Amino acid sequence: MDTFLNACRSVIGATHVLTSAEDTAPYLTDWRRRYTGKACAVLKPADTQELAALVRLCNEHKVPMVPQGGNTGLVLGGIPDDSGKAVVLSLTRLNSIRHTDPVNNTITVEAGCILKNIQTAASDAGRLFPLSLAAEGSCTIGGNLSTNAGGTAVLRYGNTRELCLGLEVVTPQGDIWNGLRGLRKDNTGYDLRDLYIGAEGTLGLITAAVLKLFPQPKAQLTALAALRTPDDALRLLSLTQSYCVSSLTGFELMSGFCIKLVNQHFPSMRLPFAEEHAQYVLLELSDNESEEHAQAMLEHVISAALQQDLIQDAIVARSIAQSQAIWDFREHIPLAQAAEGKNIKHDVSIPISHIGDFIRTTDALLQHSFPGARMVTFGHLGDGNLHYNVAHPEQETDQSFLKKQTAVNRVVHDSVHQHGGSISAEHGIGALKRTEILRYKSDVEMQLMRSIKRALDPLNLMNPGKLL
Ligand SMILES: Cc1cc2nc3c(=O)[nH]c(=O)nc-3n(C[C@H](O)[C@H](O)[C@H](O)COP(=O)(O)OP(=O)(O)OC[C@H]3O[C@@H](n4cnc5c(N)ncnc54)[C@H](O)[C@@H]3O)c2cc1C
Repeated sequence: MDTFLNACRSVIGATHVLTSAEDTAPYLTDWRRRYTGKACAVLKPADTQELAALVRLCNEHKVPMVPQGGNTGLVLGGIPDDSGKAVVLSLTRLNSIRHTDPVNNTITVEAGCILKNIQTAASDAGRLFPLSLAAEGSCTIGGNLSTNAGGTAVLRYGNTRELCLGLEVVTPQGDIWNGLRGLRKDNTGYDLRDLYIGAEGTLGLITAAVLKLFPQPKAQLTALAALRTPDDALRLLSLTQSYCVSSLTGFELMSGFCIKLVNQHFPSMRLPFAEEHAQYVLLELSDNESEEHAQAMLEHVISAALQQDLIQDAIVARSIAQSQAIWDFREHIPLAQAAEGKNIKHDVSIPISHIGDFIRTTDALLQHSFPGARMVTFGHLGDGNLHYNVAHPEQETDQSFLKKQTAVNRVVHDSVHQHGGSISAEHGIGALKRTEILRYKSDVEMQLMRSIKRALDPLNLMNPGKLL
């Protein structure tokens, strides 16, 4: 091991080879602090060439590699196992914006760029990079690409996959593939780019990407509607889409229980409704004409929805500050549920038309098997993506309830499967769900995925034990 580490030091400099417990600690525990792995070192190369040289050394010494960006992933994909044999390859020093091309509407960035910095660089060039999620101040674009992250603007702009035109990749053998093409049309064979996106670092290391930019909307406006059921929320979605078409950029469902939790744990945050309601929807429009135009569209939708008795009450934000306050409320739900205690999380997607039935059926199944369980249901309804989290009954501690995690997962994931959904909508599989997917993916699908992995990484050194 000493020979290997000394060779790494000669490639990237001793200060970028971290081995002490104190230096490596932040890279070995996951964001939610559920698991701590071990590594023989954390390696922090400065550029693609240094990274490729390290990968070649890992091949020579048969050292497993765990790629890591901002370490905000939620499925233990970027954390090594506890054998201590692997190295963590941290991409955070590859953080340059290489090129911005406002005419081609593209930006070329290195994998370790923090998402927020890419949004700012796009904005400085008079453009929008629309990927947005609560971890944007810490997560890197390499991690976003490797998990095919979703976030709050998928409805209009798609997942990270839809925002990427080209990639630069270091293969598991240490070769560099330069696929940094800013092309919107390129039918010249297998789509290697799409293979690496969402691969969770199991097929190679993403070192840079060409990303799509968009015109900046003239106005962004938010409204909040109170309603009775998720089915009414779906009707409101159809109504809004038929009227606002692609201007609708956000459509978030929040159950009344989520709102109660936010009120309870953040008493200064209040929704401006006189009464409590069973469900709430946050709508966001991005308008290319003007704020007045956006306001008129939203008011038209709200008044049509009131007339059709789809919603019981609504407010339209009158300023950016009010819009931000509504989004803040939505973003405080995960914090409020954490303050209430640990809960059993599910990041699932369902065909949008089946969501009402899924929530009704699954709530009933859980109440039958785990009386008093409290569902913290919220998410990106417009994308069919729910965070369907289950909190402990009031009379039971969270620690005791967590022991039932496998049984709760089974009820929820079986129901997702029966409704034609996916057990991981946007967070990936990592080490957390790799046995769970075996239950829901066909043998053929698993064999195809294993064949790809074997072909690209025959020594199984690239993030072993993740995804497959
Ligand atoms: C508060 C919070 C909110 C979140 N909200 C959302 C959300 O709305 N939508 C959503 O989709 N996700 C969300 N996430 C999870 C999301 O997956 C991550 O935040 C983000 O996409 C991961 O980026 P990262 O740089 O932190 O990656 P890491 O956590 O470091 O790694 C994630 C995975 O990608 C691999 N990887 C990282 N970099 C590379 C690379 N350069 N090449 C190859 N493989 C690599 C790792 O091995 C690992 O498997 C949230 C997380 C948090 C903590």
